[in-house]
Amino acid sequence: MKNQALIDYLAACGVCRVCQLRYLKARGNEYRDMQQTFKRLDVEVSECAGAQDTPDEQPPKKPRFSICSTCLGLFSEEFQTQLIEGILKSDFANYDSEGIVLAISLPMTLQLRQLSMWFALQRQFGRSTVDDNCPPDVPIKEAVKLILHPIVCARLGKAYDANGLMINIDVRHSVEAAEVAKLAELNRAAFPAKAAHQKRIEISRGLLEKQYQPARIKAELFEKYLPIPPTAVEDALQLQAIELTGPLICVAGRYRKLSRELSHTPWVLHGKRIMEESIEEIIVRHVGPHFSETLEKITFMSSGREDVDVRCLGKGRPFVLEIANARRSSMTRQQAHQMEQAVDRTGKVSIHNLQVVPREQLTHIKTGEEQKRKYYRALCVLEQPVTLDILQKLQISESFDIHQKTPIRVLHRRPLHTRPRTIFSVKTRVFRDNPRLLIIDVVSQAGTYIKELVHGEFGRTTPSISSIIGKPIDILALDVVGIDLDWPADVNNAETE
Ligand SMILES: [Zn+2]
Repeated sequence: MKNQALIDYLAACGVCRVCQLRYLKARGNEYRDMQQTFKRLDVEVSECAGAQDTPDEQPPKKPRFSICSTCLGLFSEEFQTQLIEGILKSDFANYDSEGIVLAISLPMTLQLRQLSMWFALQRQFGRSTVDDNCPPDVPIKEAVKLILHPIVCARLGKAYDANGLMINIDVRHSVEAAEVAKLAELNRAAFPAKAAHQKRIEISRGLLEKQYQPARIKAELFEKYLPIPPTAVEDALQLQAIELTGPLICVAGRYRKLSRELSHTPWVLHGKRIMEESIEEIIVRHVGPHFSETLEKITFMSSGREDVDVRCLGKGRPFVLEIANARRSSMTRQQAHQMEQAVDRTGKVSIHNLQVVPREQLTHIKTGEEQKRKYYRALCVLEQPVTLDILQKLQISESFDIHQKTPIRVLHRRPLHTRPRTIFSVKTRVFRDNPRLLIIDVVSQAGTYIKELVHGEFGRTTPSISSIIGKPIDILALDVVGIDLDWPADVNNAETE
């Protein structure tokens, strides 16, 4: 099959220039200077279907040239203009994402027309030239990436980014309903065995791509329902709707919890709020609005959590906000610093190291939780003044294992298990002004219940601090002073360059 013969045939079938190049299997740049590409491929093109030869005098209301029978105008300049205008008219300006990605939902008739042209080429040039299994064209979906993407990116001044702002484009065509109805009939005839045990045949795009190939369906059968080659149409594809989905942005940082009356997430019991505020709400309220208008859709995650009455000090606990459909994908250090200051002003939580991180880094917060070490400081009280013997028993530098039954206080939300946990070290000193008070520093495996480790909870945790000293001991206050996770990276947002 000579290129020239192919192009002449396609032109006679009303196939546009771009699609002609698709049938020459042109790649990326070759669509940019089409004239050049045809020349290089030794093909002469006449002004034919799809070419734009509107006369200068009396600009017609309807374009004079006919619509391409294979792409239905998808690759025409008119459609591109329509598309760009549609995008600019949408909410586009409110997103600052540097990268964009197009997601076009194409009418199924395009797929049918591709198959129809496939059959037509086989008839024209023989099955030995036009293979049963390998499509004769660059598929439309791929061509959208090769042709439309670069044009739209250039016109909008954006880069292609699969994780960027998604422009969802819904296009329709007037022949779609009629041709899909024919397809349903064809499908019943072509795959009767399947239809028999299926109550309803869902003809999906996936099914079309898989089943509707010359290797699986006969041209003669196809032709009973749909024409070969595809017929001309009177109108082009219409842009039905454009919807934008902003990228998923992850904002990480570390928080310190300064209050002993603050829950981690909103605490609601029987429809009533127990705590007025939560760490999650404070952080989301101050960081979220920069990225999104729908704060309720932001997900807050952290590397573990502490109880309402436990503070978290030291470097703080790593956290991340997952913000879907974000309007902005970045923030300056100055903006980050302002957010940090706003959170600090609440006096309940303090955040730092605030930064946008790549999505892949979320694994840091989601995995390895059990292996991490946690550093605690507990203020404990004895019934009698501390003795030297007690103090010595509570200096433990070698790690030891404990068995911990799920504490009664969390049984309503956690299953009953006995969990082994490792305590890496215990260091104790006496509180300066009160010989009954001890300050105990514990390094433990993540997931250890520290309050129960101290008092033993009637033997549900063994050994415990209480069992080690052989005396009752209670915990008055607990702080997390360190979390063994070196993430996210240190950034000093206060230092504006
Ligand atoms: Zn076309």
